[in-house]
Amino acid sequence: MVKIKKSWPLIIILLFFSFWLWWNKPQDNEVRSTTRLAMGTLFTVSTWGVTAHEEENAVSLVFARIKELELLASRQDPSSEVYKINRSGWETPAIVPNELSIVLEKSLDIWKLSHGAFDPGLGSLSDLWGFTQGVPAEPKIPAEKDILSWKAKRENSSEYGIHLEKSSTGMVTIRLANDSFALDLGAIAKGFALDQAMATLKRKGVQNALIIGGGDMVIAGSKGGKPWRIGIQHPRDHDKVMALAEITGDRAMATSGDYERFFMAEGQRYHHILDSQTGKPSRSGLISVSIQAGEAMIADALSTAVFVLGMEKGKALIAQFKDVEGMLVTENGERWKSPGFRGQWLEGP
Ligand code: AMP
Ligand code: MG
Repeated sequence: MVKIKKSWPLIIILLFFSFWLWWNKPQDNEVRSTTRLAMGTLFTVSTWGVTAHEEENAVSLVFARIKELELLASRQDPSSEVYKINRSGWETPAIVPNELSIVLEKSLDIWKLSHGAFDPGLGSLSDLWGFTQGVPAEPKIPAEKDILSWKAKRENSSEYGIHLEKSSTGMVTIRLANDSFALDLGAIAKGFALDQAMATLKRKGVQNALIIGGGDMVIAGSKGGKPWRIGIQHPRDHDKVMALAEITGDRAMATSGDYERFFMAEGQRYHHILDSQTGKPSRSGLISVSIQAGEAMIADALSTAVFVLGMEKGKALIAQFKDVEGMLVTENGERWKSPGFRGQWLEGP
């Protein structure tokens, strides 16, 4: 009896030690996933080949980083930089933090290359359609006169109304011509956040990972030589996977679809991807566009741009980039994928 009592401290130390060993044991063949809400959508970080302890540390840093970027680009949060620019950007030029200037510069590049199909300044139009915070509670088509007055305000400005300037010291400022150019970075900011999230994981020594944010994703390494496998949703049958992408190494993929956020009214589908030429949801014929690229920011912006451009012009835009591949589906069931797209069709549209 006395002997057992005396051994208790040793037993406890041994128990602690075995727990510590278990916690730090490299789980080489295990995928660990953590899902949290961020940027108004679900983000899932999956890692491979790291311990539970390492994963937990790295993942908490990843979500802290995403939160930081959300504060930069959110259109709803009054403390965000984009919110402030949208409130006062046409009175005085606003100073743009470095990271936001990276996203804005890329946005303007893609605006130019897509001949305005990708439009980072249609915030007021998104508000008009009620797609600012998800889907409008009541399906409501805006009055034609409101769309026309938005367009008229735009036409008041002889050039595109987002002016970004860099001073000799490297400071970037932004000025908007008027509120019809209010920023909406919803088609690119998530991609940037995913790239930054992966960079955070890599800095913590995680080399094999998949991070998914609301259907867009960034990939690194593999699962012990096996590719990461990702399903692409069927645009009309939510329970079905339309295509399966199998990816190894550093790559990103984004999908834009008219099924992601929409409402039905008068028998028509009204979705969140807008065409600034018409002031209405894009009707290019495409219903799903997946883009693979080296960076999630590029994949994200191009998926939206190609969606608005339509099949032929969209293919031409993809062809302008050396390392960009696409998978496109039209409402008539036509489908196309570029030869280098890493993935296979499973179901017809
Ligand atoms: P995505 O789902 O990546 O195609 O992005 C769609 C989101 O980007 C929308 O919810 C809007 O916030 C914004 N957006 C809508 N239409 C456009 C467009 N033509 N160009 C750029 N951003 C857009
Ligand atoms: Mg996009």
